[in-house]
Amino acid sequence: MKVIDFHCDVLCKLLLDEKLNFKNDESGSLDVTYKRLQDAGTLLQTFAIYIPKKLNGNMTPILDSIDLFYEKVLTCPNIHLVLTSDDLEYCIEEGKIGALLSLEGVDGLQGNLAMLRNLHRLGVRAAGLTWNQANWAADGVMEQRGGGLTAKGVELIKECNDLGIMLDMSHLSERGFWDVVKLSDKPVFASHSNARAICNHPRNLNDQQIKTIIEANGIIGITYVPTFLNSSGKATIDDIIRHIDYIGSIGGENHIMLGSDFDGIDVYVERLAHPGQVIALKNALLKRYSANQTEGFLSKNALRFLRGQLSTS
Ligand SMILES: [Zn+2]
Repeated sequence: MKVIDFHCDVLCKLLLDEKLNFKNDESGSLDVTYKRLQDAGTLLQTFAIYIPKKLNGNMTPILDSIDLFYEKVLTCPNIHLVLTSDDLEYCIEEGKIGALLSLEGVDGLQGNLAMLRNLHRLGVRAAGLTWNQANWAADGVMEQRGGGLTAKGVELIKECNDLGIMLDMSHLSERGFWDVVKLSDKPVFASHSNARAICNHPRNLNDQQIKTIIEANGIIGITYVPTFLNSSGKATIDDIIRHIDYIGSIGGENHIMLGSDFDGIDVYVERLAHPGQVIALKNALLKRYSANQTEGFLSKNALRFLRGQLSTS
């Protein structure tokens, strides 16, 4: 059974420490490594460009992250850059690990949509507008004022639609979410967010948001961040399954995928500390769901979404 994971932050770790080696990691400080992606039976891994606060502000760290993606990730022998749905089919046929590039927060573009077009030329196919704070495009979930899209943010959404950059709703304020949903002519997705009804955290989605994503044929990546799984902050695989059960119970069974947040977390779900351990989640799912349903959560749902959203060539 193949695995698709729609969110990890390993590029950020590579950006902060140039000595780190993705292909043969000996530091032990990376969650996502080439070997572990192979062990997990990965069909596709999304690599987020996340720029930490101290470096954030312009294009340089974004372009540095893309360079690291090309130099350290795409140079691994079995990894293939996914730009189109043809690339995805190639990965399936040839047993390659697809690598999708996404941007987590548009801060560094400084409102310049030419930079968005340049990032698309370099391979970016998904974008979240914000991290937790506000930027020129929108407010993040942790902004008290709870603003939505700015006028520039509206232009950004239209440009993403035109270019074929998928819109990631994780981290965006709720008002921003509704603004984007109203405006976007493509289905939105959430790369790494859980259900607010199960764990009342601002980073999770409420029922209305979940149902809206489902109705629009979008998709939600269940994330392994312990504080988004339960209020104790100590989580097990059963907690992940509780969120899957719930989203399934409100009509989302075919709209659930995985969005681990590996390398963006330092507290882990028990027995799920890196991609090589996703087998434990698979086995737990198989005790509760059919092979077909489990495969849906692990890869097939995300695959259907990607086939619909990526251009053919
Ligand atoms: Zn994140």
